[in-house]
Amino acid sequence: MHQNFNYQNKTVFVAGGSSGINLGIANAFAEKGANVAIMSRNAEKIKAAVDLLKNHSGKVIGFIGDVRDASGVADIFQQVNQSFGPIDIVVSGAAGNFVAPVTGISPNGFKAVVDIDLLGTFNVLRASHQWLRKPGASIINISAPHSLVPTPMQAHVCAAKAGVDMLTRVLAMEWGPEGIRVNSIIPGPIDETEGMRHLTPTDNARRAVTAKVPLRRFGTINEVSDVALLLCSPMCSYVTGVVLPVDGGSSLGGPTPFGEISSSQSIRN
Ligand code: NAP
Repeated sequence: MHQNFNYQNKTVFVAGGSSGINLGIANAFAEKGANVAIMSRNAEKIKAAVDLLKNHSGKVIGFIGDVRDASGVADIFQQVNQSFGPIDIVVSGAAGNFVAPVTGISPNGFKAVVDIDLLGTFNVLRASHQWLRKPGASIINISAPHSLVPTPMQAHVCAAKAGVDMLTRVLAMEWGPEGIRVNSIIPGPIDETEGMRHLTPTDNARRAVTAKVPLRRFGTINEVSDVALLLCSPMCSYVTGVVLPVDGGSSLGGPTPFGEISSSQSIRN
């Protein structure tokens, strides 16, 4: 259960909000009374997500759109503003991924991920600016551990998410004087998400991932959305430009279990 935050009469926009972590964040704000707008490409996913979000007291709108389409994104923000007024919170989390070494990624494949994750975030934030509440708005970019930890087979995502986090820092500086805060959340391996289903298809792969997490488990969508509620709340009113891992410590480097292996060997010896 989320902590005791109140987002009544606040307007929240979530790009890529139709599933997984982003939908969890949209749902957490809706649960706390916010009016919520979400956008993504797939009409069926948007409909299902809107049905879920409507269980709460605030108003909900779903938009079908692609973050790569700058003018489409701009139109959506105008409609959100017409319906709900100034926008208090923007979450940018649309992303794509596939697993391949650099020699196996075509220029188009690399571009596709950079276009969704990085250019898409740029499009969303740039289009949002004129409709944001000033002062007071809060932006959260959903990044990934790839931004901090070089990850083989994920060069495209590493490059894109590192760009997202630098955008966070630059915009914290450019928009800070207007009273807009800009932060990134870096989810670690989060269970029951499309991302983890894709990257850890077998039990062995799941065990290998949790072995690298200091807390030795997957995170939950609620654990990420709780931090989003906290970062956008008055409790964090002096926090901007922060790239915050919510990852059980995995971005520290994720200890391989050598220590455990050698200490059990020394007991045996
Ligand atoms: P997910 O459920 O697949 O969420 C991605 C969302 O982005 C979907 O709603 C998708 O909906 C939307 N989307 C994709 N391309 C889009 C586009 N071009 N325009 C608009 N919307 C688009 O995946 P997830 O695993 O929860 O990941 C959510 C975020 O967390 C991502 O930014 C990811 O990098 C980050 N993350 C996840 C994990 C994890 O453990 N899962 C770990 C670290 C970081 P449509 O298909 O309808 O467009």
